[in-house]
Parts: sequence; structure tokens; C-alpha cells
Amino acid sequence: MQTNTRMPFIAGNWKMNTTINEAKKLVADLRPALDKIAGVEKAVCPPFISLSGVKEILEGSTIKTGAQNLYFEEKGAYTGEISPLMLSGLCEYVIIGHSERRQYFKETGDIVNKKIKAALRVGLKPILCVGEKLEENEAGKTAQVVVNQLNEAFAGIKEVNGLVIAYEPIWAIGTGRAATGKQSNETIGLIRKTVTSLVDKDTANHMRILYGGSVTAENIAEFINQPEIDGGLVGGASLKIDQFIGIVQRTSEIKGIRQ
Ligand code: PEP
Repeated sequence: MQTNTRMPFIAGNWKMNTTINEAKKLVADLRPALDKIAGVEKAVCPPFISLSGVKEILEGSTIKTGAQNLYFEEKGAYTGEISPLMLSGLCEYVIIGHSERRQYFKETGDIVNKKIKAALRVGLKPILCVGEKLEENEAGKTAQVVVNQLNEAFAGIKEVNGLVIAYEPIWAIGTGRAATGKQSNETIGLIRKTVTSLVDKDTANHMRILYGGSVTAENIAEFINQPEIDGGLVGGASLKIDQFIGIVQRTSEIKGIRQ
């Protein structure tokens, strides 16, 4: 296993929070401290309308940007949607298949697959989210649900261009009830094995697979200390300056890659 060659990655999902001015202030406040932390890749994913302003503030910074969603068509009569072409050049990453999109906006596995293909076509790196509901977890169906989501997401895909996976048990998102490091490590090990069979071993060994769900500066160590876990997708705590900096700092101390 080549764990030590995978650059740890912490991404903040701001969800539907921050006005344009608040987003600019948040990233301006984060930048000085985050730029000093080495050995970890960091990204923030603000709302679409703030991407441009945030990108300007991050000129010359080590902090990268990501979008929270996209539509899979390039352009046309899709009122209200944002295309991959509009995002290319504006950000490096795009979150795809977040459970909130699957749940509230009825995104199916087929839509997730189309979105991944659309992102890859323009050179955007998807952050693909997978994870089980509480009742699925309690029924012992976590492995089945996650493998099924991966089968759907990777259908027809053999080149992944830096795609990252975030394992986010739905019952842990925004609830303050994080999974344990051990449980998450097991599921993420299974995800890596599944990517080996769906794509190939080398891709799976190099792919960053994150944990997401109520991550804080206080509990990040539990996840980062696990061999299969390469970082975190952080929701609520990514809006709090001290918390997000603390999460990146702990990750650097525990698993940062020294160059
Ligand atoms: C998320 O939105 O991806 C997430 C993990 O949220 P939170 O950290 O708030 O649980």
C-alpha cells in the first residue's frame, strides 16, 4: 500500500452559507494561517456566486477552490443551472453526489455518473460523495449501499483525473455524531478495493479517499490516524476560522507530506 504518497486533503463545503461579502471575508481570514501549513492540500467550496470573488482573494495562495455542484450539459436551455464549462478555470474541484443533493434534489446514480463524466471532460476534479443512511447502517447494509453507489458513479469511466472520494455516512452529516475512525477506515478500505476492481489498482492506490461527517478540530485526529483515510470533507466546521485552521493543522502534524 502506498499511503505515504497520497497528499492529505482537507476540503471545506460551505453549503448554502455566506453572502458574497461574507465569503470573501472568510477566505481572507483563513488565507494567512492556511498558507503557512505545509504538507496538506486545502480547498474551500463556496456557493457558485462567490467563486469568482474568492478566487481573486486566493491569487497566489496554496488554497484551492471547488464548486458544490454542476449540471452535466455544456450549455443550453437549462434555466438556473451551471455548466462544467462555466466552472472550468474558476475552480479545480467540484463536489458531486453530495447526500443533500441526492436527498433534496433527487439526484440518482445515473445523474451522478453523468456529472462526473461532464466534470472530467473539462478537467475539473470531482469530489464524489458516497455514504449510507442511518437505517441502512443499522441494517448492516453499509457495504452494499456504498459499493452500489460506486458502481453507478464509475459506470463507463476509466480515467479519473485526480478524482477524490468522500465517504460521508449520512447520519453523521451535520448531526454532531461522527462515525468512529475504525468504522470509517473499514468502509474506506472497501471503497479502495472497489475502485481497484472498477478502474485499476494503481488508480485506487493513489486516490485520496476522505471521511466526512461532523469533523471538528477535536476529532480529526481519530480519522487522520487511520491508514486508509486521506483527509476530510468538512461542512459546519469549515465556516469557523479556528476550527478549519485547526483541522488542517492537525492533519499536517499527523500525516503531512514533507517535500
Ligand atoms: C458535508 O457537508 O459534507 C459535511 C460533512 O458536513 P458536516 O461536517 O457539517 O457534518
